[in-house]
Amino acid sequence: MDMASSLLALPETPRQFGHYVDGAYVPSGDRDVFTRNSPGHDTAVTRISKCTKDDLNGAVASARAAFEDRRWAGLSGADRAAVLLKTAEILRERTEEIAYWETLENGKPIAQARAEVQGCVGMFEYASGLARSLHGDSFNNMGDGAFAVATREPVGVVGVITPWNFPFLILCERVPYILASGNTMVAKPSEVTSATTLLLAEIMTQAGLPDGVFNVVTGAGSTLGQAMIEHMDIDMLSFTGSTGVGRAVVEAAGKSNFKKLGLELGGKNPQVVFADADLEDAADGVAFGIAFNTGQCCVSGSRLIVERSVADKFAQMVSDKLQKAVVGDPLDENTQLGAITTDAQNRTIMGYINKGKEEGATLVSGGEQLDFGHGQYIAPTVFSNVTPDMAIAREEIFGPVLTVLPFDTVEEAITMANDTEYGLAASVWTKNIDKALMISRRVQAGRFWVNTTLAGGPELPIGGMKQSGWGREAGVYGVEEYTQVKSVFIEMGKRDHWIK
Ligand code: NDP
Repeated sequence: MDMASSLLALPETPRQFGHYVDGAYVPSGDRDVFTRNSPGHDTAVTRISKCTKDDLNGAVASARAAFEDRRWAGLSGADRAAVLLKTAEILRERTEEIAYWETLENGKPIAQARAEVQGCVGMFEYASGLARSLHGDSFNNMGDGAFAVATREPVGVVGVITPWNFPFLILCERVPYILASGNTMVAKPSEVTSATTLLLAEIMTQAGLPDGVFNVVTGAGSTLGQAMIEHMDIDMLSFTGSTGVGRAVVEAAGKSNFKKLGLELGGKNPQVVFADADLEDAADGVAFGIAFNTGQCCVSGSRLIVERSVADKFAQMVSDKLQKAVVGDPLDENTQLGAITTDAQNRTIMGYINKGKEEGATLVSGGEQLDFGHGQYIAPTVFSNVTPDMAIAREEIFGPVLTVLPFDTVEEAITMANDTEYGLAASVWTKNIDKALMISRRVQAGRFWVNTTLAGGPELPIGGMKQSGWGREAGVYGVEEYTQVKSVFIEMGKRDHWIK
């Protein structure tokens, strides 16, 4: 393909966004504005309002009013499903626009951004079915004089705080499932990647969502995000981000209104490769698992745990693959690894690479910043001779840095896979399906892949064990997570009086 013709142009001027309340954008007015530079080009691409606490209160009040008057919860599941399906249709039509702004703010490759939006279409379509099929339970075993039902009610006003690594995908793994049962929402995207969350709000209004059901506030996590987690009128909060802020969310919920929480936090996910695997496939999968989204992925397979008899050969196979991966301009169709999203994350990743060298691990490949004259890029990196106590083997790096740890026995592989405070995801590569299934039972991870990685769909629940978080998103589990169960006991016939 002709590289020049495959490159999209940068915007001539940054696009201005207000926040979104009651079915409309609120102009920035005299609010401070945050200018976002594309991490791949160092060019200003968006200008986003810095909302105040009053703005947050206004958005929560809008969501509260929309919940209490039942303009959404009071509709039939079929009517809610129609809005979710219409959203999916508009997302299909506006894929290119959403992918473009996602790429500009996040630095991910444009082809990947388009695929992610298509994945989000599936989320809305699948959740529309759940809006119609969600139901409770009935109890006809209470004796002939009584009947009881358990109903699934929406929780109320849901706050959603999302990170910068998958601004649109993570949002869409939550929004349709939250809305399916009748909740209303206030979302706060990461300040550096706010555009596509605002676009979704606009699209949902276009799809017929009643005003006030989906509101968006924009601004920094340390101020606006903190005010959200402390807010007394948010009934439930879904937080995705670092384990450190996750702890602050739990504390704030305890000190405020005991809001229900969903937490999706960090991971240090094992890729267990046996000598009897298809090593060509496994090498490609392991390379994909660490380099996808430049490793800025909570489920990235950052710990390669490989059978010792093939460890050196396999590490070299993965390294060879990674060296062929195309790192470059996110707006180029051919790019496989784009830019690192934030300066801070770039520093964190380079810091870990230096630490790995200092700790005595062997750099097999990568390990350097790539200079394209603009933006921030890091070569996919492989370290061997890693020991389980090294920081690069234990801590979430959130970058394209793979550590190789050899094992000798199946038991040792399982122990090493579980030797982490996290429990988000894991993969095993072997052609022995008995072994794969046995290991799937023993590894503590919310998502487990056999002979693949980073795979799934809107049907499957997402979430972590151990310190990777609480609760599940997506699938039927995701819808149920955003409901609360109520029991209704109905007495029939004449009451047996207590006071005779
Ligand atoms: P944070 O946890 O700080 O950010 C995640 C989200 O939380 C963003 O919307 C952020 O807003 C918001 N936030 C930040 N502080 C608060 C607060 N006190 N109260 C409420 N919300 C808050 O992650 P970072 O961006 O700092 O990344 C640091 C590390 O976290 C990464 O290196 C990685 O290890 C991990 N991480 C994990 C993610 C995952 O998917 N599990 C996603 C992102 C990061 P804003 O960005 O506007 O400040």
